[in-house]
Amino acid sequence: MAQTVRGMRDIFGAEIAAWHRAEEVFRTISAAFGYEEFRTPILEHSDLFQRGIGQETDIVGKEMYTFVDRSGDSLSLRPEMTAPIARAAIEHTLVRHTPVTRLWYNAALFRHERPQKGRYRQFHQYGAECLGSPWPEADAEVILLAYDVIKAIGLTQFRLEINTLGSAESRAVYRAALVDYLNAHRSEMSGDAQRRIDTNPLRVLDSKDEHDKAVIANAPRLRDHLDETSTAHFNAVLALLDAAGVPYTINPVMVRGLDYYCHTVFEFVTDALGTQNAIGGGGRYDPLFAMLGGGDTPAVGFSLGIERLLLLSEVEAGGWGEAARPDLYIVTMGDTARVPAGLIAMRLRRAGRTVVTDVLRRSVKSQMKDANRVRARWVAVIGDDELQKGTVSLKHMDSGDQIEVPHTEIETTLASRE
Ligand code: AMP
Repeated sequence: MAQTVRGMRDIFGAEIAAWHRAEEVFRTISAAFGYEEFRTPILEHSDLFQRGIGQETDIVGKEMYTFVDRSGDSLSLRPEMTAPIARAAIEHTLVRHTPVTRLWYNAALFRHERPQKGRYRQFHQYGAECLGSPWPEADAEVILLAYDVIKAIGLTQFRLEINTLGSAESRAVYRAALVDYLNAHRSEMSGDAQRRIDTNPLRVLDSKDEHDKAVIANAPRLRDHLDETSTAHFNAVLALLDAAGVPYTINPVMVRGLDYYCHTVFEFVTDALGTQNAIGGGGRYDPLFAMLGGGDTPAVGFSLGIERLLLLSEVEAGGWGEAARPDLYIVTMGDTARVPAGLIAMRLRRAGRTVVTDVLRRSVKSQMKDANRVRARWVAVIGDDELQKGTVSLKHMDSGDQIEVPHTEIETTLASRE
C-alpha cells in the first residue's frame, strides 16, 4: 500500500478547519501591523543555507534535504525561511526601495530530524521579518506581532522568554572569555559540548546535559560583558513590551544557536506539549545580509511552528474545534428535481453560500443522512410538489424548524439565521 514518507503527514478533516482559522489570523494580524506576505520557492541553492545558517549547525550539517539536480546544481529543500527572505530582499533590492520592509510568510519547511509528536520532517512556520531598522522599536514590533498572533489563535499556556546577545563587538569579547572558561573545564563536559567549544561556543549554554549544566552555572555571563549601547537597546525593547502589557521573563542563558543573531533573542515556550516545548522564536540578525553579500541591512524577525501552535490549541481546547459546515444541503426527491436543484445550488454558490447537492442519485433518506454527516446548517427538500409551486421546504437543522419559501427567498431565509 502506498504511504506517506516517514516524518511527513497529511492534513485533512477536522484539523484542516483549524489550519484555515490559524491562516486567517496570520493574514489579518500581519496586515494590521503593515506586513506583506512573501512567498519564495521551496528549493534554493544549497550554499544559501551553508552561508546563511552555517555548515556547523545541525540544521545544515545534519538535517538538510540536499540533492544534485539534472543540471548538476546542488539544491536544498528550505529548512527555514530567514535566509530565503534575505536572499529575496537582496535580489529584488527591496530595502533600497523601501527603507523599512515588513514581510511575513507561511511556509512548508523540511528537516531530516527524528520524527515524533510535534516534530516532523515536513513542517510549517508562520513568521515575519522587519528589514532595515537597527532600532529597538523594530524588535518590539515583531515580538508584539508574534504575541498577538499567538493570543488570537486562542492560546494562553505559553510564556515569552527574552535575552540579549549584545552588539557584535561585545559578543566577540564575551565569546573569547567564554571559550577560555570552557576550555579550562573541557574534560568535565559532554562530547557534544566539547565539539561546540570550537565551532559555536555560545551553543554550549543551551546544553541540556547535566554535567554541562554544572559547568555552565559558573560560566562568565554575557550580561557582564555588554557595552552601553547594547544595554540601552535591550532596556528599550523591554520598556516597549512593558508599555504594551506583554509579560516576559529574562532568560540569561538563551542564545538561539545561530551565529548571525545579535542583540535581542526571544522564544515562546510552553509546558503543555511535553518535550517539544518551543512554539517559536526569533531575534535580531544584523550580520546576515552582509554574509549573503547584501550590504548593511539590520533586521529582526521570528518564526512560529504552525503544527506546535495547533497542537497547543488542540490541547487547550480539548479538540480541533469545529469543522467547516455547509450553509445548505439540497435534497432532491425524484428525477425531475435534479436539474432545478442544481440551478438553485449554482445561484446560491455565486452569492457566496456553501451548497452541497447529491451526486449519487440516492434516496431521500440517505441524502438526509448525508446532510447530517456534513453538518449542513440548512436542508432544502425539492420534490414534484415544490417544483410545481416554485418553492422549497427549508429545514433549519439545529432547531428543527421548517418553512416553505419561494426559490427567490432562499438566500434571505438563510441570512436570517447565521
Ligand atoms: P527554529 O527555526 O528551529 O528556531 O524553529 C522555530 C519553531 O519551528 C520551533 O519553535 C517549532 O515550533 C517549529 N519547528 C522546528 N522544527 C520543527 C519540526 N521538525 N517539526 C515541527 N515543528 C518544528
